[in-house]
Amino acid sequence: MLDRAVIDALFPADLPEPAHWEQRYPVRQLPQHAEVTRFGPSPTGFVHIGGLYVAMIDRDVAHRSGGSYVLRVEDTDQAREVAGAAAQFDNAFNYFGLPADEHDESGDYGPYHQSRREQIYLTYARELLREGKAYLCFATPEELADIRARQDATKMPPGYYAGWALWRDRDPAEVRAKLDEGAPYVVRFRSPGVEARARFRDEIRGELEHEDNRNDVVILKSSANEVRLPTYHFAHAVDDHLMRTTLVIRGEEWISSVPLHLQLFAALGFPAPRYAHIAPLMKQIPGGKRKLSKRKDSEASVDFYIEQGFPAEAVLYYLRGLANGRLAEVPLAEALDSPIRLTECGVAGPLVDLVKLEDISADHIATLSGQQILDAVRTWAADHDPELVPVLDARRDLALAALAVERGADVPNPRKDLRKWSGFREAYGFFFPELFTPQDVTGEQFTQLGVAPDLVRAFAADFAEAYQPLEDSGEWFNQIRELATKHGFAAKPKDLKQNPEAYPAGGSIREASQIIRLALTGATRSPDLHAVATALGTDEVLRRVRAVAG
Ligand code: GLU
Repeated sequence: MLDRAVIDALFPADLPEPAHWEQRYPVRQLPQHAEVTRFGPSPTGFVHIGGLYVAMIDRDVAHRSGGSYVLRVEDTDQAREVAGAAAQFDNAFNYFGLPADEHDESGDYGPYHQSRREQIYLTYARELLREGKAYLCFATPEELADIRARQDATKMPPGYYAGWALWRDRDPAEVRAKLDEGAPYVVRFRSPGVEARARFRDEIRGELEHEDNRNDVVILKSSANEVRLPTYHFAHAVDDHLMRTTLVIRGEEWISSVPLHLQLFAALGFPAPRYAHIAPLMKQIPGGKRKLSKRKDSEASVDFYIEQGFPAEAVLYYLRGLANGRLAEVPLAEALDSPIRLTECGVAGPLVDLVKLEDISADHIATLSGQQILDAVRTWAADHDPELVPVLDARRDLALAALAVERGADVPNPRKDLRKWSGFREAYGFFFPELFTPQDVTGEQFTQLGVAPDLVRAFAADFAEAYQPLEDSGEWFNQIRELATKHGFAAKPKDLKQNPEAYPAGGSIREASQIIRLALTGATRSPDLHAVATALGTDEVLRRVRAVAG
């Protein structure tokens, strides 16, 4: 074994001993059964919806139990770090109302960025070296590639272990010679390498059995780097111990690493936390399903939901239902208020179905007041559709009147025409003079109506001439009915069918109404016309109808 003096000389002279960190981060005084959970995003890309899903579960479990939810930024892979990723995290967690109890410098167990915890990792790497539970490895990339190639060729399991581990049992004199040369090295964990199966408990999956770890994994990256950063595995053991995490909730892809992690906890003399591995979110594809992919699926990014303007509550409700099927069966408010139970999280990855999410979102939006919707649309538009903002601001009353059409506490079946905030323009844009494009009488929509352009013009002119903004819906419609008869439209579609020659307009009240609908809304389908006209106000109704009259 390498002399302690040689080991210590590799580290800063004033590096604290483990006892220092133990004291600095004492065992938490929390009620029994309180869980300390953490979410550990890496700023190497956008936040994945699966990450939000895990964060939501982490936070819920911690809060329900009277514990604490920690956000730990796992930024040890600085080469792959993406600029702006940190801001995107903040944005995502804010949007979804999932702030952490401990993050950045706020909390007693920080720093919460791994890149700022170098001293801590060094203390424990030195300790493992001193105890012979870790060693210096000078293997070059070429040597490692050669090991890999020979393992492949002989069908041996890949890795740096047993006889393949070039530096595991080297003569200390050789190690010292390398150090004297100034050769760069990594620190590797000396795996106890048991030839058995590892057994452990997962809070979701129950008792599991896995191949035990035999690899001497790297725990501290190359000494050639300016900052000596740990690998994920080592940081996990050190951080989750010192942050006093009780329950590690993370993606299923880490299950196979648990045997290694348990070896690390044991070597460091730390009690291991409990684990819960969450099944990944899936996507339906022809003939099956696959994991939502960062690369292939835009809906894998949390930004997608924010940009599209899905209300946060609707997304959270949907995700809770994916986590615990029970929560999809109860109303939104109840689901957001009910605990997520790890024991009810499935082992198979749930499907993310955007159509389902849109339905949930439309149902939710239908329960909101016009004021709430307008506020939400405006907030969304400020970031994603800035040109909409001045229109909404200038036309608040019109916007509220438009949103009040077939909506409100007294309406038994409120409109479900808004599925997300980005749909506002399409569903409500026509109300606003700034956003409305009048239809041309000779354009496609009028042509499809099958009424001669001159007749359309004459009908519109007559309508504008005598228009009265009547309050009673039936009386209001009578204005169209009377004009329809006058212009040779049948009073009922049936009449037209039975006696087409009697109606020179070639249409019935249906087509006559569509003339006014197209004039007012620019579309063949719209909310109740009388309600639309009332929201628009007489001046605007006349302006639009006159535009058609030409
Ligand atoms: N940084 C890890 C990841 O991005 C976190 C895994 C964990 O929660 O331990 O997957």
